[in-house]
Amino acid sequence: MATDFDCLFCKIASGAIPVKRLYETSDVLAFPDIHPQAPVHILLIPKQHFGSLTHCTAGESPLLGQLLSAACVVAQQQGLSVHPGGGGFRLVINTGPDGGQSVDHLHLHLLGGREMGWPPG
Ligand code: AMP
Ligand code: ZN
Repeated sequence: MATDFDCLFCKIASGAIPVKRLYETSDVLAFPDIHPQAPVHILLIPKQHFGSLTHCTAGESPLLGQLLSAACVVAQQQGLSVHPGGGGFRLVINTGPDGGQSVDHLHLHLLGGREMGWPPG
């Protein structure tokens, strides 16, 4: 599995930097964002290093699907399921400088627990 030894999220994936591992498969890990922007703010990462979404190829489609499926499982675990009259969440993948990406390891933000604004900043 490709790992970047200078990468924060690779260190989190390997366990070198400890985090609360909320959900995990052989390929994907979910943990709380250290600076939460909503009552629920969880990051989902592939354990394999990809610098951003644009570093993925069509071959990574199953992995990207696993990330989305994992996000739905975690959202349900966090009580964010859509239900009659409410619920739901937002998924965000900041990509590149204009996208606001600050950590160069692909990650998906799961945000919920409050109503989200639109358009985003
Ligand atoms: P982005 O700006 O989309 O690249 O998101 C990076 C996210 O990583 C930010 O929301 C940070 O708060 C979060 N973050 C940075 N360092 C850590 C850490 N050690 N543990 C958990 N989340 C972190
Ligand atoms: Zn990495």
